[in-house]
Amino acid sequence: MPVILMAPKRSKYFSRVATCYQGHKHDSIKEARRCDELNLIEKAGDIKWLKQQPIFTLQPKFRYRGKGIRAITYRADFSYYDTQSKMFTVEDTKGYKTEKYQMKKKLLIFKMRDRSDFLFLET
Ligand SMILES: [Zn+2]
Repeated sequence: MPVILMAPKRSKYFSRVATCYQGHKHDSIKEARRCDELNLIEKAGDIKWLKQQPIFTLQPKFRYRGKGIRAITYRADFSYYDTQSKMFTVEDTKGYKTEKYQMKKKLLIFKMRDRSDFLFLET
């Protein structure tokens, strides 16, 4: 009988789950460090309403021929209001940009394109 070794559970794209100083679980060390940084910036008052992993509905759920079709959502890494630039900012720290991410990013930007106080930021 062959011996099957089970690999330890990891998050998607093989990056380990990283915990920030606030105790959240983040998908990467880069994201966890950015969370720490943003929390300090919030304490300094340069940003407010900081949220981790905010979810945006790109397309609502609907019914098609009696069948329920799920909504398309996008989970960003952070969102906050920048008190200096007065911009509502959605931030993603993606290291590896998948096609799915690129498409969702494009749909979010399209949805928000007329809001001059909206900024999508990749860090
Ligand atoms: Zn965090």
